[in-house]
Amino acid sequence: MENQITILNAHGQSFGFTTSDNSFLHEFLDTFKSGMIENEDALLIKNSIEIHNSIRIFIQKNIKVSSIEGLNKLISILEKLPEDNLFFIILGTLDTERRVKYLTKLVSLNPNSEVGLINYTEDLDFMEFIKIYNISEFGRQRRVIGEKGKCRFCKTSEGNQNEFGDIVTFKNKSHAISEALGNKKVTTKDECDACNKRFGREIEPSLVNFLKVYRSLYGIKGKNGATQLKGHGIDIDRESLSIKFDGNLEELINQEVVSQIIPLSNNESFVPLLIYKCLVKFTLGVLPVQEMQYFDKTLSWINGSKESSELYPIIRFKENIVHSEPLLTVMCKRVNDVPNLPYMFAEFKFANVGFVFIIPYCSLDSENLFSISNYNFFYEFLLKSVKKMQVADIEVDDFSSEERKFIKINVIVKNLKLGENAFWEDSNAPQ
Ligand SMILES: [Zn+2]
Repeated sequence: MENQITILNAHGQSFGFTTSDNSFLHEFLDTFKSGMIENEDALLIKNSIEIHNSIRIFIQKNIKVSSIEGLNKLISILEKLPEDNLFFIILGTLDTERRVKYLTKLVSLNPNSEVGLINYTEDLDFMEFIKIYNISEFGRQRRVIGEKGKCRFCKTSEGNQNEFGDIVTFKNKSHAISEALGNKKVTTKDECDACNKRFGREIEPSLVNFLKVYRSLYGIKGKNGATQLKGHGIDIDRESLSIKFDGNLEELINQEVVSQIIPLSNNESFVPLLIYKCLVKFTLGVLPVQEMQYFDKTLSWINGSKESSELYPIIRFKENIVHSEPLLTVMCKRVNDVPNLPYMFAEFKFANVGFVFIIPYCSLDSENLFSISNYNFFYEFLLKSVKKMQVADIEVDDFSSEERKFIKINVIVKNLKLGENAFWEDSNAPQ
């Protein structure tokens, strides 16, 4: 008789295999005994390095068993789980009802876990959400994506010429999320040097520039260290925010006005559409490579050979916490019976801003996905699932414009007192 075994963690990730060999199964389950908490209708296990090691020994011993191959994946799932986190080993068929039951339990047993978009709650909406979407998170743990040999973006093998006329090589380290945004942990093996260079030149600068003000304010270190934002009348770095005000300073200071908005500009520019493309490129860069088959049109769009049409707006929000590293959370639909929700969408968090965007032009999405009513459905669905998050200032922005824009910063100035927190620059001081 075939036994089905599923390992399920609080992130909703599962790993499963089947075996008809009972002694193999018992030996496998034995590798978890050091962390056994509960052994009822499912085994509740506490994650530990000891368990990872005994699985490794088990793999070595059973290297010839065909179902053994996937177990390396199991080790990597468990290694990414915090130590002492609890997970289940479930025997038998795992239907949605059982899945939700065990996940609910894991969520309450691992109260401090957080999965990107959604903080764990016992909220039923969250359960609804994970019934529909698988969640994978990138950015907290060190991860190397893919295998060398063939580029996931230009689909060309090493040594051959790709559609852009470049010979494909894999000499340099590629970052799935721009290194300029402080990502050091998520790297890829299957992004070729030429694609990496092209994306770095064509699409990444828009997002990097767009986020520069946050990088400066929160001192987030990029490829070349922390950044300073300089511009006409403004100079921001971690330690200070200095604003040169061209107007009549005396009018602004020592007066009854509570606050005054000073619009500032600098020379950083961006193209909204390129920001969208860059976010989507990050997402495609971390997917299991077999998922790439559904995104051929998406790739043509990123590369500029497909026109933008029917793009959903991007949801942008501010949080009360600041992330020191970029975090990407990918939601991938696990069921087919909700055609008005997109197959894939993702959330990108940087400093205290978050973006939620749909991966457009997926071949698995129905053609009429991009209608206003479907968008509203998606938006409502999302708001229900994130309502417990400490999210402020949700905005819905259109990122479909190809028009280059300059960054404008409105600084609100309050309670200025000359000599206390406002000073004349020497050259301008009245004699
Ligand atoms: Zn390539």
